[in-house]
Amino acid sequence: MKEKKQFGLLKIIEEDVAFIMCKSFKYFSAIIKGAYCNKCKSTHTSKIVNYKIFLDSTNDVLIDGYCDKCNHEILRTIETGEKEEASERAAITRLVKVDLLGQKV
Ligand SMILES: [Zn+2]
Repeated sequence: MKEKKQFGLLKIIEEDVAFIMCKSFKYFSAIIKGAYCNKCKSTHTSKIVNYKIFLDSTNDVLIDGYCDKCNHEILRTIETGEKEEASERAAITRLVKVDLLGQKV
C-alpha cells in the first residue's frame, strides 16, 4: 500500500474489530482464512498474513495484508456503512483513539 492511500486511515487492532463487528466478528477469521488473491487467482483459499487493520474515512474496516501463497498484497474491506450500529461503533472507536488517546491518522 502506498503512503498516499493511507491518508485518513486509522490503525486499529483485532479487539477493535471485535467491538465494531460485534456478533459478526465470528466471520472475521473466515474472512482472513478465505481470501481471494488477484495474483495467484486462488478461489478464496488464500490466507491473509502479516496484516494490519485500519478504519478508513468512511469507517469501514480495511484489512491490509499479504497472500500466504504468493506474498502478493491483499486488501479486504469489511463494510460497516450498511449496518447502522456497526457504523456507530466504528465512529466511537475513531473518536476514542483520535480524540481521547491522541492517535495520529
Ligand atoms: Zn496469491
